Amino acid sequence: MVISKIEIGTLNVPFTGALKTPVGILSAANNVVVKIVSSDGEYGWGEASPMAQITGDSQQSNYEMAKLFAKHLLGKNPLALDTRIAEINYLTVGDPSIRCAFDMALYDLAAKVAKMPLYQYLGGEPRELRTNLTVGIQDTVEETLALAKSIFDSGFNAIKLKVGRSGLQDIPHVKAVRELAGPDISIKVDSNQGWDYPTAVKNIVALCEFNIDYYEQPIAAWDYDGLKRLRNATNQPICADESLFNHKDAFKLLKAEAVDILNIKLGKSGGIHSALKINSIAESAGVKCMIGCFGESRLGLSAAAHLATARPNIHYLDLDSAFHFKSDPVSGGLQYDKSIGGLIHLNADYGHGASVDEKAIEQVWSLSL
Ligand SMILES: [Mg+2]
Repeated sequence: MVISKIEIGTLNVPFTGALKTPVGILSAANNVVVKIVSSDGEYGWGEASPMAQITGDSQQSNYEMAKLFAKHLLGKNPLALDTRIAEINYLTVGDPSIRCAFDMALYDLAAKVAKMPLYQYLGGEPRELRTNLTVGIQDTVEETLALAKSIFDSGFNAIKLKVGRSGLQDIPHVKAVRELAGPDISIKVDSNQGWDYPTAVKNIVALCEFNIDYYEQPIAAWDYDGLKRLRNATNQPICADESLFNHKDAFKLLKAEAVDILNIKLGKSGGIHSALKINSIAESAGVKCMIGCFGESRLGLSAAAHLATARPNIHYLDLDSAFHFKSDPVSGGLQYDKSIGGLIHLNADYGHGASVDEKAIEQVWSLSL
């Protein structure tokens, strides 16, 4: 069996609203999708959801890099995952989003050939998964509370609040949400690097009375030493997001004792292959992982949910991007429960189970044997 055809295209879906964070505003998914077809007619789907402010790549750069990857992969064995992914990684040190799309499509294809759902191909079995839902930075506490109320009314048991405003302006927002939530709802805060070190110390010391699960990327991504000092100064759990791309970063962060939790995103790690290594390194250090997302459709989220299913050390889920989609171009794969907020269902279809409505794909380019 060899890779006989690779199709790429863009997938653009507006969001129902804008998600504002200190690193940028997400108001649409501007993604790249990849379909890898084998000589026996099987195929795998993958998705890139670049966010240049974090991943350093874009829809345009992903699209061009995808053509290069396709030329190198055509005619090769799709099941030799380790070798194929090493070849992709040899072609660029950057572009993690499109490396993720190819990795995801190869894993999907391999699991389909093995006639297994992806979680089973990765050695796992079904377990309950629940995602949080995120509230972006709002101008007023009333706006934050209105969004939080709708999330709690939908039955979610976990919420993530984007913070990172200047000074101590975040505190009334978090305080009000804790008062509304009561004691049992899980609250996480994510600063997206928005605080400097002294502001982070002041905020975290003030916020810890509100029983926050963890503080995600409170300061600049590059500042591993600052993360470690912050962790020691506040005695609160610190989570690395933008500081962590691949398994090499995981090793450096944990060796430095800089953080308590690692936020895996397939779009940062370059896909499942490195994400598995991140989780193994974390598990070896007694550290739990979360899995997050950028602006993926249910395609990219399905792959992430299968990985989380297969690795219970991936404890926290932030797989909510598809909640914001105005239309859903994906069939199969992950489904959100309509009655229990945040509950995720995966079926036993082979692979990750998701495929894209080809009518929704633009700028289609393909290469065949
Ligand atoms: Mg984050």
